[in-house]
Amino acid sequence: MRGGRFWKWMAALLLTACFGLTAGCSSAAGTAAGSGDPETTQAAGQEQGQTEAESAARADSETAEESENRAENETAEESVVRAQVTVVLDPGHDSQYCTRNHPDLGLNEQDLNLAIGLACRDRLLQYEGVRVVMTREDGSCPDAEHQGEDCIRARTDVTAREKADIFVSLHNNGTTGRLGDSPEGAQVYISRYSKFTDSSRVLAEKILANLQKIGLASGGVQTRSKAEKGTYDDGTVKDWYYLLSNNVDAGYPAVIIEHAYMDNSYDNTFLKDPQNLKAMGQADADAIASYFGLTFKQS
Ligand SMILES: [Zn+2]
Ligand SMILES: [Zn+2]
Repeated sequence: MRGGRFWKWMAALLLTACFGLTAGCSSAAGTAAGSGDPETTQAAGQEQGQTEAESAARADSETAEESENRAENETAEESVVRAQVTVVLDPGHDSQYCTRNHPDLGLNEQDLNLAIGLACRDRLLQYEGVRVVMTREDGSCPDAEHQGEDCIRARTDVTAREKADIFVSLHNNGTTGRLGDSPEGAQVYISRYSKFTDSSRVLAEKILANLQKIGLASGGVQTRSKAEKGTYDDGTVKDWYYLLSNNVDAGYPAVIIEHAYMDNSYDNTFLKDPQNLKAMGQADADAIASYFGLTFKQS
């Protein structure tokens, strides 16, 4: 642990908070330096409240129907299927409408996230009893129909549709967008919703420990709230990130992994090695597998 780490993180949090106000998904196409990571911090749009309520209602009725069907038709085989863990992996942003290009840093965040996500998927599939659903597997936008206007909604809707056990959004961070900034390493954001906080913290700590093993600093488990969004049904102020709160509103846990700082010199160099991106995805996968108690396939 290097000296001054705490204050560096305090500074990083404050700076990231400023970034969070910059842009939604569609308006930031082609944004260069200084864009930070706005997809995860998308400001409240008028459509969000409406679609959130609708989505919650949908999820409720689907769940009720499905469990009835299951009770009636249950077989041994279905029990096995139900014992499977379903993981949604969400490589943040995309190359179509929600780009995060940083030419000054020599990196495009969406490409890093995708490389990490694909490696994470491939590694997870080496474990028994896991199903992986990707929100995207190439550069295209999961919300192509609306040209990225509802990109976050399109991603978080996957969780309920797939009745997933966890939604994991994969990102990389930035502070000012100028190479040489001091904040570095990984952070994992978890929900403040009481039902999910403890379990998500366990997963987040496993992820951070694994990322530390491959050479990234740990910025710890983070939460961030937004009073303007109101409260969850437990009275907790909602999470700042719609990637978390959309999932929680639908009854599902979610975490956001900010793997490294694109504008930190050490992290920037680290991110430019494709082997490191692969290792990051594998580190995430092994943490997820450990969290769910999955065992490696025999052959
Ligand atoms: Zn991002
Ligand atoms: Zn998009």
